[in-house]
Formats: sequence, C-alpha cells, structure tokens
Amino acid sequence: MTAEETLNQLAQEISACTHCVLHETRKMSVPGDGPANAEIMFIGEGPGFHENEQGHPFVGASGKFLDQLLAQANVTRSEVFICNIVKCRPPGNRDPLPDEITACDAHLEAQIKIINPSIIVTLGRISMNKFIPGAKITAVHGQMRKVDDRFVIPMFHPAAALHQAALKPSILADFARLPDQLNEARAALGKPVIIKEKIVEENQDKPKQLSLF
Ligand code: SF4
Repeated sequence: MTAEETLNQLAQEISACTHCVLHETRKMSVPGDGPANAEIMFIGEGPGFHENEQGHPFVGASGKFLDQLLAQANVTRSEVFICNIVKCRPPGNRDPLPDEITACDAHLEAQIKIINPSIIVTLGRISMNKFIPGAKITAVHGQMRKVDDRFVIPMFHPAAALHQAALKPSILADFARLPDQLNEARAALGKPVIIKEKIVEENQDKPKQLSLF
C-alpha cells in the first residue's frame, strides 16, 4: 500500500471513529487534507462550523486567511498537509478537552508517521502544547526547534489573528520566515535545499526573482 493509500485508509477510519464523545455531535469528521509527501504539516485545534459541514479543514474565514498567509510564503494548499489536533468539532467551538485530545492522538500520530514532514507548524496554543508543553505562545511563536525527528514551529492560530488585530503583524512575519526555515530544517535533516521560482509580476522586465522554498 502506498503512503497515499494508507493516509486515505486512515481518513476512512477517522470518519467512523467513536473513540470520544465528539462523534455524537459531529456532522462530518475532518481528517485533514494534503499530500502524503507534504514537507510541511499544519496542525490546528479543532474543526469549526464550516469544517463540520464540509469535512475539510480551514474552510471558513480563518481558512481564507490561512490561504493568504500561505501565498505570502509562496506555498499552495496542495503542497502542505493541514489538519487539527481533534478531528471532530467540539460543540460551540469550545476548546477540545484533554481526554478528547488524548483519544484522537493516535490518529494524529499515525498521520505524522505516514507523512513524515520536515516541519510541523502548530496553529494555536493547544496543538503547540502537544510538542512544546508549558511554552507560552507569545514568547515562542515563529521560533523553530527540533522535536524528535523533525522541526516544530509554533504560530498563532489564524482565527486569533483575525479577532485580535494586534497579532496580525506577528503571524504575517512568522509565515514570511517559513521558506527559509524549511530549507534550514531540510539541511539539518540531510535533505536537499528547495529552490522555488517566483515571478515578480509587478515588473516583467526585471529578471525573475528566485525565492527559496
Ligand atoms: Fe474519534 Fe478523534 Fe473524532 Fe474523537 S475527535 S470521535 S477520537 S476522530
């Protein structure tokens, strides 16, 4: 079975999962989207209203903002894997409870094992706590650190930045550093650096600008 097939099989298992109470109120589970060979994996907190309706992660307002942030880093959604720490919506968009996070952790760990990303970007305090317990997101956001076999970068949740304008410059700056951090991580993991071409659209007469990533 290929990694893609294993990931799809896992998604089917998640859609039928009853390991915690969240299955009772979900409309659709939200396993996550993205390729099995993604270099970057984004992990949010839990599905919201729109995600629960559609079965896909980050499809509401915070998803649109995430798309903008990815575009700034010269990345498309199809290149990254995006999921949440729990795969079913906590009622009323409350934070997932510790026992729900524990129950769903096997799914997340299986996804990480299949995808084996160079970088995990945690979006928000709750997913950060899985990898960097006890850290304060205001102190460590944007800082990359090695955790086991890969690198982890904690970032603010896009929804938090949408609701608190003061956080927006920080999340924009953190995403802008992502391409360089990916190559830093790849070099440390013994993988080749990625050169991704970016066209400078404002002035086509100028030579093409090459950006890392
Ligand atoms: Fe299963 Fe996770 Fe959904 Fe709970 S949140 S029912 S553990 S898939």
